[in-house]
Amino acid sequence: MLPFRLIYHKDYDLNLGHHVFPSEKFRLIHDRLLAEGFATPEDFVAPEPASDEDLTLVHDRGWVQRLKTGKLTYEEILQLEIPYSPEMARGFCLAAGGTTLAARMALEQGVSYNVGGGFHHAYPDHGEGFCAINDIAVAIRKLQQEKKITRAMVVDCDNHHGNGTAAIFAGDPSVFTLSIHQYNNYPALKPPSSLDIHLSDGVGDREYLERLSAAFRFPIHGFHPQLLVYVAGADPYREDQLGGLDLTLEGLKQRDALVIETALREGTAVTIVLAGGYAINLDDTVTIHINTAKAAKEALDAVGWKS
Ligand SMILES: [Zn+2]
Repeated sequence: MLPFRLIYHKDYDLNLGHHVFPSEKFRLIHDRLLAEGFATPEDFVAPEPASDEDLTLVHDRGWVQRLKTGKLTYEEILQLEIPYSPEMARGFCLAAGGTTLAARMALEQGVSYNVGGGFHHAYPDHGEGFCAINDIAVAIRKLQQEKKITRAMVVDCDNHHGNGTAAIFAGDPSVFTLSIHQYNNYPALKPPSSLDIHLSDGVGDREYLERLSAAFRFPIHGFHPQLLVYVAGADPYREDQLGGLDLTLEGLKQRDALVIETALREGTAVTIVLAGGYAINLDDTVTIHINTAKAAKEALDAVGWKS
């Protein structure tokens, strides 16, 4: 059995049909983790959907109600950029429940991996860019409410700026948000994170890893969060359709190891969420996300956890 839990629900799939966001990747990752023998069925835990009370720790009640009852306006659906369905609404609530469960388990086991989530473009009162519910923020707020943590950090390595997360935690000294992203890309408006690393188009492995490593060091030592949510987007990959960075599969693995190992060495628990990934070849997106799970196991084996 793995030394940490994988959180997954078959209804994570957002039922998007032919869409640039391959939300069937959640199932494909689950299936390949089993097929490769990395995990067994007992390693997976299925979450409950986040309750309205938990969702409204972050989101406006009106937004949650319109999303859950199919009453989003035409403009709201346009901004979300994905078609509405009850399965889509349920998938977001499950992802938020999943990241919350994953965060709790990370505190016990050092690491956890939600085979979903990372919907960092969602704001309290609206969704954007394929993200309706900000599972990252819901999980942090819930664990703070339960007094399991006081300080959390978000390290957002998706190709795209974590605008919703940055806006939600703006001015909150208990949550440090770091986003490393391609500057010249979606979203147009980038509300400041605690620390933003704006990368030029075409940045490759070496510059990416140097800048992330340098920026990461100070807050993880100085702020010393109990929980780090690692937004492990697959879209900085050089063959991504919506990304403009130039990372290789190997560079992405080094990124994963850097974030997870550094956090564990500081005694900070790590919850992994997936976020974007639009590689020309869907298998590459699946491989990148699976490599993150493998990096988590290697880091935990190497560093251990106090429990
Ligand atoms: Zn992205």
